[in-house]
Amino acid sequence: MIFDKAMQAAPDRFKVIRLSDFTTWGIGGYTASCAVTSEQELAEVLNLLRERSLPWVILGKGSNTLAPSEGWHGVVVLLKGDFTEYSFKGNLVTAGGGAHLPSVSGAACSTDLTGLVFAVGIPGTVGGAVFMNAGAYGSSISDLVEEVGVLHPGGAIEYLTAEECGFAYRTSVFQKNGAVVLGATLRLSRAVGNSGELRREAREILQLRRRKFPLDVPNAGSVFRRPDNGPPPGKLIEDCGLKGYRTGGAVVSRVHANFIENAGGATSSDVMHLIEYVTDRVRRNTGIVLRREIRQLGERI
Ligand SMILES: Cc1cc2nc3c(=O)[nH]c(=O)nc-3n(C[C@H](O)[C@H](O)[C@H](O)COP(=O)(O)OP(=O)(O)OC[C@H]3O[C@@H](n4cnc5c(N)ncnc54)[C@H](O)[C@@H]3O)c2cc1C
Repeated sequence: MIFDKAMQAAPDRFKVIRLSDFTTWGIGGYTASCAVTSEQELAEVLNLLRERSLPWVILGKGSNTLAPSEGWHGVVVLLKGDFTEYSFKGNLVTAGGGAHLPSVSGAACSTDLTGLVFAVGIPGTVGGAVFMNAGAYGSSISDLVEEVGVLHPGGAIEYLTAEECGFAYRTSVFQKNGAVVLGATLRLSRAVGNSGELRREAREILQLRRRKFPLDVPNAGSVFRRPDNGPPPGKLIEDCGLKGYRTGGAVVSRVHANFIENAGGATSSDVMHLIEYVTDRVRRNTGIVLRREIRQLGERI
């Protein structure tokens, strides 16, 4: 029905996609979608969706997203074209919200700019990374943010400082205010030492991640956030004996217990039931209440 409404509004703009093709878990049914290639096009599309009261959500690489197997009744907006570009000026890199984070990180390493190497294996977009305040190895994107360009739900464009983005561990103000991250300028530093050192570091990080994470099966990275105090979720889950525990096609990874693998044919309900089961077992065993890092498509918290 949403698709029919979207099609009536602008037949050329919208198409049906299968969300399983747009999420790293490979889970998700059909939805209406719209790819936009410029800020102007994005503003026009969001106006149209607002006028018709159609729900919408931005989807990056879908690497932190659980999409409903029964499909989503709204319009998934994909940032393409201008939004995927990035460029360097001095120690700054400016990237669109749809730019591929590992590519930006790799390009920074190749130009001997340090700071973003931690992100070389985080398979999302720059917009998704800002929204999630993605990070690894003690660094987060928020450490680098000089400015973030956003489109507010009301249609106003604003440029925010890092402070105004309300960053904290794996969160930002955008998780509450519904603004679209148009792009970000990150401040990097000129690397000292051998040229090529950073690329070596990037390769080492990728090798380490290949050993530690189940990268050959569909997953969405860490399912749970690190608790404020207490061991990491992977340790808590492993200590409950849950490695390999399965609900339908969803399995607690034997490689890293904070990952849930789609072992074949997993549905979004399989994953949610497994998340609830793991949360309950960890709470009963340790008193610690794990909180989800992964997000359900379209949820606002
Ligand atoms: C193998 C693997 C390893 C991972 N390792 C890490 C890691 O080390 N550290 C880490 O932090 N994360 C990690 N992740 C999780 C994920 O890659 C990050 O959270 C990433 O930043 C999500 O980006 P995305 O574009 O895929 O976001 P999506 O999953 O597409 O979207 C996530 C949320 O962000 C919102 N969003 C996306 N783009 C925008 C935008 N432009 N404007 C407004 N909202 C937007 C979406 O609406 C959604 O709510 C990993 C995931 C995988 C699969």
